[in-house]
Amino acid sequence: MKVAVIGCTHAGTFAIKTILAEHPDAEVTVYEKNDNISFLSCGIALYLGGHVKDPQGLFYSSPDELKKLGASVKMNHEVTNVDPASKTIEVTDLKNDQSFEDTYDKLVVTTGSWPVIPPIKGVDNKNVYLCKNWNHAKELFETAPEKKRITIVGAGYIGAELAEAYNTKGHEVTLLDGADRIMSKYFDKEFTDVVEKDFTDHGVTLGLDQQVTEISGDDTVTIKTTKGTYETDLVVLCVGFRPNTGLFKGKLAMTDNGALITNEYMQTSDPDIYGAGDSVAVHYNPTHGLAYIPLATNAVRQGILVGKNIEKPTVKYMGTQSSSGLKLYDKTIVSTGLTMAAAKAQNINASEVIITDNYRPEFMPTTEPVLMSLVYDPETRRILGGSLLSTYDVSQSANTLSVCIQNENTIDDLAMVDMLFQPQFDRPFNYLNILAQAAQEQAAKLAGTTSK
Ligand SMILES: Cc1cc2nc3c(=O)[nH]c(=O)nc-3n(C[C@H](O)[C@H](O)[C@H](O)COP(=O)(O)OP(=O)(O)OC[C@H]3O[C@@H](n4cnc5c(N)ncnc54)[C@H](O)[C@@H]3O)c2cc1C
Repeated sequence: MKVAVIGCTHAGTFAIKTILAEHPDAEVTVYEKNDNISFLSCGIALYLGGHVKDPQGLFYSSPDELKKLGASVKMNHEVTNVDPASKTIEVTDLKNDQSFEDTYDKLVVTTGSWPVIPPIKGVDNKNVYLCKNWNHAKELFETAPEKKRITIVGAGYIGAELAEAYNTKGHEVTLLDGADRIMSKYFDKEFTDVVEKDFTDHGVTLGLDQQVTEISGDDTVTIKTTKGTYETDLVVLCVGFRPNTGLFKGKLAMTDNGALITNEYMQTSDPDIYGAGDSVAVHYNPTHGLAYIPLATNAVRQGILVGKNIEKPTVKYMGTQSSSGLKLYDKTIVSTGLTMAAAKAQNINASEVIITDNYRPEFMPTTEPVLMSLVYDPETRRILGGSLLSTYDVSQSANTLSVCIQNENTIDDLAMVDMLFQPQFDRPFNYLNILAQAAQEQAAKLAGTTSK
């Protein structure tokens, strides 16, 4: 079996390792247009913020490792065309600009995503940077010490992490977004209000509810928005990602934004072409539909599935809640599944309960409040999403909620499910039990009855 893999960051690396481990006879060739593999982009903000000292630690594999495992590794090679009918690909060796053809029995598309570059006048200004791969990371690391004023365009989780990292290191930071709240896709307002206050308390300028219309200038950059003008030394564009699937336009089934549609065995509409990672749409359990949520968590799992299914459909994709988390200043802020805003935007029948409770009893020498939300279907009582924010490390609680959504648990299950009690850690009911009990009470009030 001749397998060609296009793209090798996370989905590609995991697919190749699994194919070679589980199908030792497979002849695997990987084409990667960059000169490195497996870079963890989440480390960019961690390095800029001083948490990670050596960026080389942000790679977990290498071309040499894949070669030793038996792959033929073609770095600096770009696949420029794919013909599914003849199972042929065209490749350019970027080092000498020579092109050639290769054939495959099975093709793995792990071409990932690329930052969205909005059509802003002057967006090609030399002081505008992207933040996605190792090459972008190196540029940002080199410029960081010499640029005092930094403006981040796009206040999603990547923009927020960069803003916090630069701010922690003493830069003057401005965070701009067209939405009227930061991280509006990931957290409901009660949560983003807290994070926005943390940003402004630390001196970050928030410019929300405004579109950037023009970027100009040489050393000093002027950013014009629909609400004002900002002077800065460096701009980082973080307005989202789109799937890197131009090679397959008109050849494979895609969602409106160009994400490849796969079945539960990661096969695209051509059963000999597999897709994984940021180039594909996820199977999103809260809605039982497709969604575009590019995360490394999805990429590594889907990559493994491609490896397991490459010869024949074997192991099904269990879908995802696309759980995510970040640490901004002293707070952990995590979410899984749907927010209430996302449910409303998709016309999903949902209720949300939001409470604050201390994670452990007040008689302990210290305790910390946890802000929590649970989004659920008021009819079926199924849990659809949840968020937590605290100075206490609540990150693993998002994972617990993720399992609840995966397993289609209800608020009644979570209200009573067994969780350990020890005053060092929590109360006789864990704070997640208490959150679900609050949802039960709310559901009862909404239904005009007493709690189940
Ligand atoms: C700053 C930042 C922070 C992040 N933090 C997190 C986090 O904390 N948690 C999390 O889960 N996710 C995080 N993510 C998302 C995560 O990095 C992506 O989901 C992940 O990189 C997707 O991996 P991938 O292998 O599918 O695609 P990509 O990383 O996009 O890699 C695709 C590869 O394909 C190659 N390629 C594309 N086209 C061709 C071609 N025609 N020929 C040859 N090669 C090609 C590219 O060069 C690239 O190496 C973060 C992303 C960024 C940018």
